[in-house]
Amino acid sequence: MLQPLLDVKSLVKYHATHSGTVRAVDGVDLQVHAGETLGLVGESGCGKSTLGRTIVRLHDPDEGRISFKGQDISRLSRRELRPVRRQMQMVFQDPYASLNPRRTIRQILTEPFTVHDVGTRREQAQRVDELVARVGLHPDHADRHPHELSGGQRQRISIARAIALEPSLVVCDEPVSALDVSIQAQIINLLRRLQSESGSAYLFISHDLSVIGYLADRIAVMYLGEIVEIAPKRALWNQPLHPYTQALFSAIAEPLPPSVPRRPRVSMKGDLPSPLNPPSGCRFHTRCPQVMPRCREAAPPLQEAAPEAGGGHRVACWLHHVP
Ligand code: SF4
Repeated sequence: MLQPLLDVKSLVKYHATHSGTVRAVDGVDLQVHAGETLGLVGESGCGKSTLGRTIVRLHDPDEGRISFKGQDISRLSRRELRPVRRQMQMVFQDPYASLNPRRTIRQILTEPFTVHDVGTRREQAQRVDELVARVGLHPDHADRHPHELSGGQRQRISIARAIALEPSLVVCDEPVSALDVSIQAQIINLLRRLQSESGSAYLFISHDLSVIGYLADRIAVMYLGEIVEIAPKRALWNQPLHPYTQALFSAIAEPLPPSVPRRPRVSMKGDLPSPLNPPSGCRFHTRCPQVMPRCREAAPPLQEAAPEAGGGHRVACWLHHVP
């Protein structure tokens, strides 16, 4: 089996709040392979953005290991991380907050080349022109400031900045959720096209399973800091096993494609519990329609659910536990 591009093992990230310490990411294992898109879905507050930021080392992990191209990057210093950052980029939810308002688009897009000392000034200018065209903007946009662009155009600039140095991995954190629905599809199509041209892998984070469905090859479902199910998209679409995943499918507003089997609706009880004091045993037990006594006492392991179907479908639920 090929070595994964990104290999995350037992990752833990704490957040100190004024009410106490939250284990925002609590023992996460996941892998992203070269050129693929792993979708990461879960409700707001489940820890998925913290996981994305910890993977690209905007946060320092508290425990566990992050390997990128076979190198353990979990404890690298800022200086040691520099060459890694070139290959691992992030697109944020709010393009306005992530672009310096005082700089022109040309200055913003030139920065990756100057920071990493790539090309002459003339070559950098040429690369910026190419980037502007690649993300579907007009050459004139390069001389404007972020506030002179629409939300969709600003997100195109954020994407251009992220792909400037042709990274192997782009972590996209809710890149379309701040945009109008009509613009969302354009940005998703742009990300798809760029990936087919460049072969970069994406970790695509969203609270919206239908958005993830357009892009992902595999999908990981996160609940209160833990991965509860991970599977190839088709397997998850055809047979979601975890009651939480089933409830997320039930909450999709738009009609699913005809190829997706119809299923009875599964609804969750109550709200997401406080991550400051997560429930004992299976963390989903306070909301699960199929809860059993065992679920309150012990946490189910994330384990292979259907090895006969070729493997790769793992779930953490006592209903599917294989002793
Ligand atoms: Fe529901 Fe129990 Fe499965 Fe948790 S382990 S999802 S509470 S059935």
